[in-house]
Amino acid sequence: MDKFCVFCKIVEGAIPSNKLYEDDTIMAFHDINPQAPVHVVIIPKLHIAESANDINDENKDVIAHIFASIPKIAKLAGVSSYRIINNCGEDAGQTVMHIHFHLLGGKDMGEKLV
Ligand code: AMP
Ligand code: ZN
Repeated sequence: MDKFCVFCKIVEGAIPSNKLYEDDTIMAFHDINPQAPVHVVIIPKLHIAESANDINDENKDVIAHIFASIPKIAKLAGVSSYRIINNCGEDAGQTVMHIHFHLLGGKDMGEKLV
């Protein structure tokens, strides 16, 4: 728990969120500033990593659990075609330093990545 972290505060319930999915380890909620008709943010509940640069043997099972849960979360969001994005670091546009993955869809996303 990082008391200055907005996602930790969402997990704690101190900041409200539009929650889509939650289990013991992870949580998924609708992005407050959606970039597509479906825009869900998937996070580990614990502040185990600031970014993808912190993924290691200790926390890799949680990251794997996020990916193993993506089909279920996508289904709950009502999409079967979507893009998963992780912004790692400032140049990649990361603004919240609590590792997370964006699930974007609900429209033709096109073939370009950026
Ligand atoms: P990133 O730019 O990859 O760090 O993504 C952070 C995302 O968190 C952005 O898309 C924000 O719109 C989203 N976000 C920030 N605060 C909240 C919040 N309170 N509830 C939902 N989404 C949020
Ligand atoms: Zn956090």
